Amino acid sequence: MSNVVISAAAAVLLAGCAAAPPVTPSASRSLVSPGLVPVRTIVIDAGHGGKDPGTSHYGLREKDLTLDITRRLKAELTASGFSVMMTRDHDEFLALSRRPAVANRSQADLFVSVHANANRQRQVSGVEVYYPRQSVIGSSMSLPPRIDAAEVDALTTTVRQVLWDVVLSRSRRESSAMARHICRALQARLGAPCRGTRGARFVVLREAWMPSVLVEVGYVSNRKEAQQLGRASYRQLIAKAIAEGLVSYANRL
Ligand SMILES: [Zn+2]
Repeated sequence: MSNVVISAAAAVLLAGCAAAPPVTPSASRSLVSPGLVPVRTIVIDAGHGGKDPGTSHYGLREKDLTLDITRRLKAELTASGFSVMMTRDHDEFLALSRRPAVANRSQADLFVSVHANANRQRQVSGVEVYYPRQSVIGSSMSLPPRIDAAEVDALTTTVRQVLWDVVLSRSRRESSAMARHICRALQARLGAPCRGTRGARFVVLREAWMPSVLVEVGYVSNRKEAQQLGRASYRQLIAKAIAEGLVSYANRL
């Protein structure tokens, strides 16, 4: 790294690296970091859709549940003052990688994918929230968002890679914090056990650069949870809980 010349702004992002040059306080104001900015735009993703129904049990299809819950979630978040985009707002098929691409393109602050779970062991029930264990960013974005190419004096592949590494590892830490907030809120509202927050390698998570989570709202393979998920009032509770989790996460920033 010693022969790479970077600006003070890029140095802020490199501050986590052993070889990073010293960072001055004035330089640290010139860049903002993902996950540490006020949350304004949230992209929500209804799992599955169209020819892909997801899991089906007790007459419920995952693609219908996720669409209904995300519509309700959008209304809750909009009422809380966020700008909200949905990857799909009707019954259509969307390839997995097109979902995080919507969030990346719109430079969203958070990405939330909603799914319902199933297990061969029908007694299994509860909610789970996943965050990305690994991040892979497509070549469509050459530089992390909010970094001005003009601020980076020598935009070599190495510099670009280091910038991305710093942004993505910070994003993963924030994802895990957001997952905990949502898990707590779901448990409190639904009285359903939160089976935990875990790192996972889901495509929808690893291709988004901003803090991202995937919420499994319950097991349709469990008779009691399927009955609950079949009720609009319960889906409304889920939407409220996810929104509360997001608000408490956003307020903490
Ligand atoms: Zn699913």
